[in-house]
Amino acid sequence: MWPVLAGLGAGTVAAGGVLLWYACSVPSSQLFGPVLVRGPKEGRRVALTFDDGPASPSTEQILGILKQRGSVATFFVCGANANRFPEVIRQIHAEGHTLGNHTYSHPLLYFQSRRKIAEEIDRTQDLIEKLTGHRPTLFRPPYGVRWFGLYPMLRERGLWVVQWSDTGYDWRNNADAIVTATLRHLRPGSIVLLHDGFGLPAVGKQVDRLQTVQALPAILDGALGAGFRFVSVRDFLPGS
Ligand SMILES: [Zn+2]
Repeated sequence: MWPVLAGLGAGTVAAGGVLLWYACSVPSSQLFGPVLVRGPKEGRRVALTFDDGPASPSTEQILGILKQRGSVATFFVCGANANRFPEVIRQIHAEGHTLGNHTYSHPLLYFQSRRKIAEEIDRTQDLIEKLTGHRPTLFRPPYGVRWFGLYPMLRERGLWVVQWSDTGYDWRNNADAIVTATLRHLRPGSIVLLHDGFGLPAVGKQVDRLQTVQALPAILDGALGAGFRFVSVRDFLPGS
């Protein structure tokens, strides 16, 4: 009898662990609260998102490529990087793109205190508002990971969690593979994850996202040629 009970107990703990992992770590999981993973199917609209910037020169190069094609994107920036490149933040905003909050120092949120999480969010909100006059309404947690206490905090601050439905895997792919991976699954409402910078602890080092920069013209041209239009993630929020 005891071994059976012990077995059941271990099974329950294991199942709880899997559920917790799913809730925290699977980008599309809604167990902690609502998540925007993709936009509506109506219209051929897709949203490009760039994480971990700004960085120089990658972000400026990406802005130039977007401008040439009259397309917009959403940039989930880290406050620490915004502090290093405030002019790039102003440029992103001035050129009609959307800025989202990606925390200040890009920590994994597992086991972080509420105070630490709030500080990461608020420092970045304050900085972006100081630089652009606008407070972000979009939040993407580093590595897509959510933790206890995060959602009430985001609700209080009017922040939406935005994850992604597609990615070019630009942290491991070369430019050609980034293009192929991005375009292969693109469909109306896709939210595509790419990177224009690096999360900490890379801050302080020279960074470039050459592969992503090189892939971007073909991604834009391929999607535009297939009749897609690039919009801000904000346009995918309910009621917008
Ligand atoms: Zn990130």
